[in-house]
Amino acid sequence: MVSEETAKKVIQAGLGNGGELAELYVEDRATLRLMLDDQKLEDATRGGDRGAGVRVFYGDTAAYAYTDDLSEESLLQAARAAAAAAKASGSGQVLDFSQQEHPLDLGYQKPFDSMPIAQKAEMLHDLDATIRGYDSRIAQATVVMRHLNRRVWLWNSEGIHAEDERNIIELMLVAIAKQGELVQPVRDGIGGQMGLELFDDQDPFALATGVAESAVKMLDSRPAPAGEMPVVITNGWGGVLFHEACGHALEADFVTKGTSAYAGLLGQQVASPLVTAVDDGTIAGRRGTIRFDDDGTPSSKTVLIEEGVLKEYMWDLAEARRGNQLSTGNGRRETFRHLPMPRMTNTYIDAGHHDPEEIVRSVKKGVFVKRLGGGGADIAKGDFVFSVTEGYLIEDGKLTAPIRGATLIGNGPMVLKELDMVGSDLALDRGRGTCGKGQSARVSVGQPTIRIPRLTVGGTDQPAGNRTGQ
Ligand SMILES: [Zn+2]
Repeated sequence: MVSEETAKKVIQAGLGNGGELAELYVEDRATLRLMLDDQKLEDATRGGDRGAGVRVFYGDTAAYAYTDDLSEESLLQAARAAAAAAKASGSGQVLDFSQQEHPLDLGYQKPFDSMPIAQKAEMLHDLDATIRGYDSRIAQATVVMRHLNRRVWLWNSEGIHAEDERNIIELMLVAIAKQGELVQPVRDGIGGQMGLELFDDQDPFALATGVAESAVKMLDSRPAPAGEMPVVITNGWGGVLFHEACGHALEADFVTKGTSAYAGLLGQQVASPLVTAVDDGTIAGRRGTIRFDDDGTPSSKTVLIEEGVLKEYMWDLAEARRGNQLSTGNGRRETFRHLPMPRMTNTYIDAGHHDPEEIVRSVKKGVFVKRLGGGGADIAKGDFVFSVTEGYLIEDGKLTAPIRGATLIGNGPMVLKELDMVGSDLALDRGRGTCGKGQSARVSVGQPTIRIPRLTVGGTDQPAGNRTGQ
């Protein structure tokens, strides 16, 4: 795509005006989307995009210029534009990219194109039939399969040369059950940083039956109770609550700006001793997994909170330079048109020791959340509102009637302090999360079953703020 010789020239041009660190990022992406909506197959939508960006750091800041023309002249122009903004007095450096090598490692077994489109379309139809065939009250189904292949190259003046291929496959299913006026949509998805072996690891037809079953079950639901009560949230995708209401506040940009609820609290008890929370971009095959981040820093496992004590924030290169820290490998960008920012990868609350069944048995009257919908949280304070798409009453330690229209309203840092039971059943979500923090990034979330002794259930007001969809 771009030769090492050209990369050297571009980086030297980037340093030409006294910049301290120059970087060239090159990206080539291809996407394919197949969608079956209301039994009609939309045309397969293919997309592609390629381009490069040059970033020049000086002092506490950086200048960035990008282009979708990968010719040497255009790259040099971008480098000169970024360099023009650099006013510091660094000196040009000799480039030797041998410092760090990340040889290309495909890391997946069955390329997306190894299954012909006609066969994929047939699979979509079969999944649709599975959802509709579950019950006559299923009124509508949507099935979407997506593939994103992203090749990236990064060189910088500290000698880093990184090269990677990120391959994401995802399948999203929606079942809508109807009875009279009552409409109950349930959606779920699977996906990961892998090839079509995704469908060997996770049965898409079981997923189809699952969404249909949940949607139909919710037709027999009663309106959710309102007020403060114990809430038990199931493992896996339930971790989206931690991601939104606490995780973002642990991203270094909010911390260095001082807007985060966790700013200045390193080493302090910020959560129940039952809580250990981790961001780990190195877990094989996961949706948020990266071999190195978009600054060229190797991905890592970062313990954010250990037994309730705040241990570390998530850093990208720019914030790490500003804060005189080491990057944790959390710099991510949506495309070459964007500057990296600190982002989560695969983020979860670690396993505790409570038996998940015992957690439910411990509640006299409360709510059990089996599926959380999307939600929003205010990053600075951690106030959140999440909708419950599948929930049940807990009465005398047993799950009873399904409930609808429930929302969970609370404050992330407060919930982490009050949380009083953490299950042994840690699971990551099955691979459907996309975080929106100005730029979209695929992420994974997870947790074991947890009990929050007091949480407000009900209400419809949504606070403004960041959202993670599915
Ligand atoms: Zn998010």
